[in-house]
Amino acid sequence: STPLDPADQSLVAGVLARQLRPLAKAITLIESQREDHQARAQKVLEALLPHTGGAMRVGISGVPGVGKSTFIEALGLYLIEQGLRVAVLAVDPSSSVTGGSILGDKTRMELLSQNPAAFIRPSPSACSLGGVAEKTRETMLVCEASGFDVIIVETVGVGQSETAVAGMTDIFCLLQLPNAGDDLQAIKKGIMEIADLIVINKADIDAGAAMRAKAQIKTALHMLRPASPNWTVPVLTLSALQKQGIADFWKAVCDYREALGASGEFAAKRRHQALAWMWEMIDSGLRSRFRSHPRVREELPALARAVEEGDTTPAAAAFRLLGHLQSNEQGR
Ligand code: GDP
Repeated sequence: STPLDPADQSLVAGVLARQLRPLAKAITLIESQREDHQARAQKVLEALLPHTGGAMRVGISGVPGVGKSTFIEALGLYLIEQGLRVAVLAVDPSSSVTGGSILGDKTRMELLSQNPAAFIRPSPSACSLGGVAEKTRETMLVCEASGFDVIIVETVGVGQSETAVAGMTDIFCLLQLPNAGDDLQAIKKGIMEIADLIVINKADIDAGAAMRAKAQIKTALHMLRPASPNWTVPVLTLSALQKQGIADFWKAVCDYREALGASGEFAAKRRHQALAWMWEMIDSGLRSRFRSHPRVREELPALARAVEEGDTTPAAAAFRLLGHLQSNEQGR
């Protein structure tokens, strides 16, 4: 492969030297939809790859209003007090529709965004959740190469994006309100199964309700099959607003790392995530190659109609269209 051009070499050097401007420029390159930018971004990432993997990757999710930004700001400032550098990224697939992201918005974390040990980046805009997730994963790697100790990836409670964030982080934390019934919704949506840590926020409003919610969620968790034999999902109550319980939260994250690290499960999870990412890229690459193939584009509308009308079977239409991809490859 061709070497990095000099401009990108200095970009890489700047990222490794922990400078914020090159970091932001590298991320902009990654987020660009332009093909030449994408090619450069991949080279930059390759150069940075040996310097990645050093951060604790924390996923945070919860419905709007649960207190995510309040919590992330309190947690971020606490971690910075401990001498750590913190990056906050966001996965919001709706950002490409609305044109702006409510997640990762600096005005939501004002104190944290002004702190030189913090880096906050809103959700990239891409046409699909897969695109947003891919760019966020790559951004995470750049932040790690730039020496951030903790990467927080924030998302809203809308099922698919939570699965995507759980698939790119070491520990997935679900924020809940101290309302009865909330936990049942999370179970229905399958979110509780993927949570490694559950937090009941706003305990300051009604400590009794928070304790009841905690008991309820613990009971519900007993009914689920544990995701790891080395970890029992803790349920914590805290107040992000009053900054109470933040240290306990971080201790639970560190306990998790230790518990899974000892058995090798922590590293295995990352290996598995990297492989799943590769397959996702292969799937989406094949799909876009298929859709842009001239013969496929030519025949797809009529074949789709024929399938709808029952004039041909879905399988026959699929085989015919996929065949074009094959013949094209052999012809090359
Ligand atoms: P997000 O939409 O999940 O990011 O939620 P925000 O962090 O914006 O919080 C929504 C509202 O809940 C804001 O008015 C916060 O001040 C408030 N809030 C957040 N955490 C707490 C808490 O622990 N206790 C109380 N009483 N209010 C909170």
